[in-house]
Amino acid sequence: MFRIGNGYDVHRLVEGRKLVLGGVDIPHSLGLDGHSDADALCHALCDALLGACGAGDLGKYFPDTDDKWKGVSSLVLLEKAGEVVAERGYQIANTDATIVAQQPKLAPHIEAMIINIAKTLKIDSDQVSIKATTTEKLGFAGREEGIAAYAVTLLQAK
Ligand code: MG
Repeated sequence: MFRIGNGYDVHRLVEGRKLVLGGVDIPHSLGLDGHSDADALCHALCDALLGACGAGDLGKYFPDTDDKWKGVSSLVLLEKAGEVVAERGYQIANTDATIVAQQPKLAPHIEAMIINIAKTLKIDSDQVSIKATTTEKLGFAGREEGIAAYAVTLLQAK
């Protein structure tokens, strides 16, 4: 039995914050603002995983009103989402994600993101796909006001 899930997340780019995507610190003049480390890629992946097994969304497990999650690495949240998947009797077949960012260039960091995510979810790197695109300077991502991430995942019953 298979289950599919999708996730989407956006965080605002601001000065004075680190840019973290897929658990990788990426050198940039702006960073993502949020309660946790604002790792939009990990958040989209979490929602895809939780959605696929009918377990709700990230806000249900990690409310941004809870100081426990303030500044936390989103890899911790992703690990928890992976545990929920396992508790519900599923294993991850694959995940695929697209980061939407005008700047900086993300290609040099994709491999490190894949390694982080695969390790956190206890799956092989070839089960994790991450891509990046710009929006040709269109929209909020194009104006460098924020970064978005889309993710899908396929689960199979254990
Ligand atoms: Mg988020």
